[in-house]
Amino acid sequence: MEPFSPQLIYIEPGALEYPLGRELKEKFEKKGLEIRETTSHNQVRNIPGNNELQQYRNAKSTLVIGVRKTLKFDTSKPSAEYAIPLATGCMGHCHYCYLQTTLGNKPYIRTYVNLEDIFDAADKYIEERNPEITRFEAACTSDIVGIDHLTHSLKKTIEHIGQTENGRLRFVTKYHHVDHLLDAKHNGNTRFRFSVNSDYVIKHFEPGTSSFLERIEAAGKVAKADYPLGFIVAPLILHENWREGYLDLFERLEATLPTFAKKDLTFELIQHRFTKTAKNVIQKRYPKTKLEMNEDERKYKWGRYGRGKYVYKDEQANELKDTIQTYIDRFFPESKIEYFT
Ligand code: SF4
Repeated sequence: MEPFSPQLIYIEPGALEYPLGRELKEKFEKKGLEIRETTSHNQVRNIPGNNELQQYRNAKSTLVIGVRKTLKFDTSKPSAEYAIPLATGCMGHCHYCYLQTTLGNKPYIRTYVNLEDIFDAADKYIEERNPEITRFEAACTSDIVGIDHLTHSLKKTIEHIGQTENGRLRFVTKYHHVDHLLDAKHNGNTRFRFSVNSDYVIKHFEPGTSSFLERIEAAGKVAKADYPLGFIVAPLILHENWREGYLDLFERLEATLPTFAKKDLTFELIQHRFTKTAKNVIQKRYPKTKLEMNEDERKYKWGRYGRGKYVYKDEQANELKDTIQTYIDRFFPESKIEYFT
């Protein structure tokens, strides 16, 4: 698949005070793209489209160049201590995506240009936890790799964290456009993860993302560039013939991944979950989705601030966990499973 290219650009005036803001403006002007000014990202209400659905689709190819004002980082359990805010939104169309609700009616992509402020804040968090390691997750609110060929802000973050003693960076992607990241001076401080899934899940629920093969080829390149490598298998879905589907995934992963990439591998396992709000949004945006979201067949798990989620019932979740663990032990005996949630 081709790297993401926005159709419409908005620039917040404050963004032009930063070198990256000016650089991006110039870059997109040269490409002849339509650039509009906006006083605040909240005012990007005029995204073209005759109805909500069209506006949603157009928003997914709109890039807002902005300034990150809140420099208090969110926590990001269980994969890291903090979420480092580099961008929000994603051009992918994964039906189950958590951004459907977290970004609600702001589905456009917004990239932040005040990187120095963000790095200063990260340094303070590292300092506070010294001598403990502080991990930052860069993919909490977007698929950052998928847009980084345009901004290189992830690359700069990798290099910044690479210079620290106790900082670590991690992110996950479904895109294979990694070439510009291969020569970044990561110093082993960044764990590069790819999201993988059964053929059924990728085919039915992940439109607008790179293919399985493209992701694995990119994983091979990343491992060759000495990045610690990992896979997130998520969302784990109990679809028809799921046992065979996931067995096939691990067989192909084992067969395709170069041998040198199999050292120091990590796996993170996340079962499918949804909220009532997410279900409503998903059904509106992807009315023909095959995504199963029947509350009666799920268990309600209470969450922070009283916002709970529907996960699989214990018996099913345990079966899922045991099956996937068995496959990982069989095909990647030296790897580490970080968590199942
Ligand atoms: Fe959401 Fe990730 Fe899919 Fe983008 S690639 S739509 S962030 S799940």
